[in-house]
Amino acid sequence: MTHPHAARPYLFNDRTVEGYRRAMAAGTARVAERIRRADRPFSGVSPERLAAEFAAIDLDRPLHDHDAALDELDRVYLRDAVYFHHPRYLAHLNCPVVIPALLGEAVLSAVNSSLDTWDQSAGGTLIERRLIEWTAGRIGFGAAADGVFTSGGTQSNLHALLLAREEADASPARLRVIISEAGHFSVRKAAKLLGLGPDAVVTVETDGERRMRPAALARELDRCRRAGQAVMAVVATAGTTDFGSIDPLPEIAGLCEAAGVWLHVDAAYGCGLLVSRRRRHLLDGIERADSVTVDFHKSFFQPVSSSAVLVRDGAVLRHVTHHADYLNPRRMADRGIPNQVDKSLQTTRRFDALKLWLTLRVMGPDAVGELFDEVVDRAAQAHALVAADPRFEVVTRSPLSTLVFRYLPPDGLGRKLADDANLYAREALAASGAAVVAGTRVDGRHYLKFTLLNPETTLDDIAHVLDLLAGHAQRYVDGFAPLTEEVTHVHS
Ligand SMILES: *Cc1c(COP(=O)(O)O)cnc(C)c1O
Repeated sequence: MTHPHAARPYLFNDRTVEGYRRAMAAGTARVAERIRRADRPFSGVSPERLAAEFAAIDLDRPLHDHDAALDELDRVYLRDAVYFHHPRYLAHLNCPVVIPALLGEAVLSAVNSSLDTWDQSAGGTLIERRLIEWTAGRIGFGAAADGVFTSGGTQSNLHALLLAREEADASPARLRVIISEAGHFSVRKAAKLLGLGPDAVVTVETDGERRMRPAALARELDRCRRAGQAVMAVVATAGTTDFGSIDPLPEIAGLCEAAGVWLHVDAAYGCGLLVSRRRRHLLDGIERADSVTVDFHKSFFQPVSSSAVLVRDGAVLRHVTHHADYLNPRRMADRGIPNQVDKSLQTTRRFDALKLWLTLRVMGPDAVGELFDEVVDRAAQAHALVAADPRFEVVTRSPLSTLVFRYLPPDGLGRKLADDANLYAREALAASGAAVVAGTRVDGRHYLKFTLLNPETTLDDIAHVLDLLAGHAQRYVDGFAPLTEEVTHVHS
């Protein structure tokens, strides 16, 4: 039996601040130690082995001690976590994070402001509003712009498309959304959630650099019009997830303006260019969008989550406004009380904006842009390296920081073998933990992918990972490493 007051010391308040300080110090010390010791991005642990550790934990038998819980956490999580700060983590759109943002994370969780209403956040709401204004300014939107922080690009895209749907004047069955073949799948999910028909998302072809072809968009707009379908939005991607390609924004904006169609720019990845001193021009035309998605947790070195949706005309956010008597009654809006819930799909909402705020106040935007420019520079160097390497074939040259390529087996070996060798190389590399890379399919074939977001990744790291990949693929081709068995045995 626990004493009725035994739980009180765990409450964070004026009497427990010393315990809070000690717990935070102990937690950060564990993380610091793991980061210091990580000689690879991943231990290579298999899900089966880790699951066994978790199965042995009885959630109804607490440890009653922060240090004991941290010991356990170190064993089941920190030891085998995937570390994005490591220079040989080259897989997905996960960035290493900056310290001012981590400081923000610690502060925002402890104060625990909720950004739905002014009366739950006060200055937090004003910080978010200033950052929305700042981001809109960077985009080139005018004074009418507005927006709100969201949980991620998926939610930002959903939010933007909801606004577009509300602005469109047609029945759901006739609505269409046009996106390129290389656009993000979250747009399809959004269409489904918005009640559009199964054929609502129409893809148009890309050019050799995986950018939407404006001529194909023009044809599709025309085809929809003649078929009596209403295009509620064109989604242009500024930084496709696989290729880092940027759709031709000025041409697309021109076509949308002529057709009177909502333009959404998904800059979840490419938004880092907003603070680049050398490459901001790559986003030219974004200011003509009706809505924009930005993911600060991708190219602003922010911890998950940190994202926002911006709109050129803030008035459209009224489509998500609902006045609840208990929370944000209309009279509050009439009195000018700033309630962000009036603009958001969420109600209770994290104060993620604080992380970006402290990042800008400590480092400034140029420093963030400098970090992003460095990874883009590195990607260009990596492209040259792979393009000159006869062991590999590379798909496109990204204006951002991805590299899609594949190992080429010696001539005369079949297509299936090439696919399997690349699949095997990726899995074997991850199982070794020496590096983590991504994979994708291009025109039906298996490719490998680097997503560079770490300025600490050197060209030597990249050359080393290429050697490791070629070694694994070569062993597979030579027949020493059958797919699946070998991979699962590497770490058992
Ligand atoms: C990552 C990504 C998304 C989804 O963003 P989340 O933050 O993962 O929800 C949407 N669009 C593009 C182009 C992306 O790269």
